[in-house]
Amino acid sequence: MPASTESLIAEVPAFAAHARTATLLRPSEGTPGVRESSVGGPLLWPADEPWPVCRAPHAVQVSEKLTDEEREIWQRIDRAMKERARLNPSGVYEVTKEEALIQQQIMAGASALDMIAWERTRWVQDTSGPGVPMVPVLQLYARDVPSALPWPDGVDVLQMLWCPTEHSDPPGQPHYWGPMVTLRYRSSSEVEAVLDPPRPDRADRGYLPRPCVLDPVEVTDLPDREDLPAGLHAEGERWAEARGAEYHRTLACRPGWKAGGWPSWHLTDLIPIDCTCGTRMQLFLTVDSSDDGPDVCVGRYGELRAFTCPTDPTHPIRLNIQ
Ligand SMILES: [Zn+2]
Ligand SMILES: [Zn+2]
Repeated sequence: MPASTESLIAEVPAFAAHARTATLLRPSEGTPGVRESSVGGPLLWPADEPWPVCRAPHAVQVSEKLTDEEREIWQRIDRAMKERARLNPSGVYEVTKEEALIQQQIMAGASALDMIAWERTRWVQDTSGPGVPMVPVLQLYARDVPSALPWPDGVDVLQMLWCPTEHSDPPGQPHYWGPMVTLRYRSSSEVEAVLDPPRPDRADRGYLPRPCVLDPVEVTDLPDREDLPAGLHAEGERWAEARGAEYHRTLACRPGWKAGGWPSWHLTDLIPIDCTCGTRMQLFLTVDSSDDGPDVCVGRYGELRAFTCPTDPTHPIRLNIQ
């Protein structure tokens, strides 16, 4: 048998208990309509319903000019360091402990120094301003994602929007840096006139998805090492290897834009994503970085994952990027 998730489960039945349905969304550039599933496309949004506006604190970069004295000290340290490197056969650039301390004081907690403009830049939380209109990221009709997501009664459209700017640990999202996400459910039969949404007056590069149509396909997804009992992951890897395949990303943690399924923990070990009610949350939606299709970049060219509570889907979602 070829190396598919189904054949692995047939031969190693212990995997069956860990299988989840996922829908790979497979977006490609196009001109979706409001009555279609889409990435970055127009949303089926009632004309009389206010468009969501993000009022969370926004992480913005501010620059401060170094004083003449600070610049001269910095340049003196720089020259001393280069002179030491020139005299030292290993040629390593290194500042002394004292110099490092002085540099630290000049930086004053800033994250970067522009040595042409002689400005230090830092991220600050900006709570001023009227709020940022969110932008459409994803619209899913239940007919395209029948079993990978739970559909509450009377609902057949799921919409994901985000505020296309940076947020640092926004309300309810500890250890998170990225766009602020909101979800809406609705019934398509109840929407007649559609709203022409406002556009944000600012947006970060990578956070404005290009309109895409979807080509959804349902697959069986399996978990990463940390979400499996000890030993079973190794068995899955051996099984895949024997068939010239890879467990991770081929049989498990399927890559790309996805509904449902399992998250990959390739950058960090598993970070337990727990709901405010204490329940371990489940992967709901995955946004992927790419140059083609939606042309989105999240994190360090990574994946943004929205998790939901399996006990009560009305509990707030949690976000994670890796
Ligand atoms: Zn925002
Ligand atoms: Zn919960």
